[in-house]
Amino acid sequence: MKRGVMIALVLAALAAFGAGAFAYRGEIATRLLERAAAGGMSDALAERLPDGLHAIFCGTGSPLPDRSRAGPCFAVLAGDKLFVFDAGEGAAETLALMGVNAGDIEAVFLTHLHSDHFDGLAPLALQHWATGSAQQPLQLIGPTGAARVAAGLNEAYAIDAGYRTAHHGPEIMPPAGAGLSAREFAPPLAAEPIVLHDRDGVRISAFRVDHAPTVAVGYRIEYGGRSIVVSGDTARSDSLTQNARGADLLVHEALSPRLNEIMRSAAVESGRANVGAIFHDILDYHASPEDAGAVAQEAGVGALALTHLLPQTPIPGLVSTFERDARTRFDGPVWAMRDGDVISLPLTGGFERSRRLRF
Ligand SMILES: [Zn+2]
Ligand SMILES: [Zn+2]
Repeated sequence: MKRGVMIALVLAALAAFGAGAFAYRGEIATRLLERAAAGGMSDALAERLPDGLHAIFCGTGSPLPDRSRAGPCFAVLAGDKLFVFDAGEGAAETLALMGVNAGDIEAVFLTHLHSDHFDGLAPLALQHWATGSAQQPLQLIGPTGAARVAAGLNEAYAIDAGYRTAHHGPEIMPPAGAGLSAREFAPPLAAEPIVLHDRDGVRISAFRVDHAPTVAVGYRIEYGGRSIVVSGDTARSDSLTQNARGADLLVHEALSPRLNEIMRSAAVESGRANVGAIFHDILDYHASPEDAGAVAQEAGVGALALTHLLPQTPIPGLVSTFERDARTRFDGPVWAMRDGDVISLPLTGGFERSRRLRF
C-alpha cells in the first residue's frame, strides 16, 4: 500500500473513532460522575487516618494570584477533633475537595486580622451550617478585633441566611446555626504563651510572633504526646523559636527574597511603581526559607513544612528553591507544601505524608 493511502486510511479511522467517542462522551462522563459522587460523599478524610495529630494543608498560598494555591488555611485533626487555623479565599472549597466536612469543625483560630487570612471565613461558615445542619454558629477564636470581623460578616450574610432557611426549612438550615460566633483574646505581649483550648486531650496555646505593625500570633497544638507549631505570618521570631522547642512539626511561612526581587524589579520596569513598593515592603515582616530553617534548627523540631509561599510559584520547580534554601540551615526533613497535602503524626511515632485532593 502506498504511504499516502495508508495515512489517509488512518486519518479516516481516527476521525470516525473521534466522532463516535464524541457522541458517547457525555454519557461516559455522567457514569464517571455517578461513581465519583458516591465515593466522594462517603469518603471522609478523618476515617482514613490513624489516631494521631494530622496537619492538613488547605491553603498554601498568599494574597498573590495563584490558581494552584488557595489563600492561607491550615487544619489540624487531633484524634477526632478538627480545628482550622486561618481561612483565606478558597479554604472551604479546598477542605471539601480533601474530604473534610466543614460541619465537623470545632473552631477556627485566626493568627491575625490581615484580610487574606479570613476572606474565606464566610463560605466556610456557610458550609459548616449547611453540611452539618449546625445548631450553633461556627466558633471563631482570634486576637482582639476578631469579634468585629465576625459581626461584619454575619451582617453581610444575614439576608442570604434568611433565604436559605426559608427555602430548605429550619430543620435543614436552623437559624441559630448560621454565621460565626466570636471569642477574642488579648494577644500575649511577649513569648509567654496563653492556653486557649484544653479539652479531650487536645491543648492549643497562642504566642506572639513578629508581623509588625500587624498584631499576630502563632499556635502550638498538642495531642497524645505529638505536637505541631504553626508560625502564622512572621519575620524570624525568637518567641516562635522558644514556643516551637521540641515540636514534632513546625509549619512555617516563607518568602523567597531572590524570587521576590524578580517580581519587584519586573513591576518597577513595567512602570508599576506602587506594586514594586509593595514587593519591597513585605520583605520586613515575612521570613525567608533560611530564617525558617534556622528557627527549626534552633528549636530542635522533627521536621519543617513551608507554606504561605511568597511570591507565587506558577512554575513547578520553583518550590524546590524554598526547600533548598531552608536546608542550608536545618538538618531535618524540609517540605514545601501544596494544597491537598497531609502530614500525619501517628501516636506510634514518625511521619506519614499523603496527598488528598479530589478532581
Ligand atoms: Zn499577614
Ligand atoms: Zn499572610
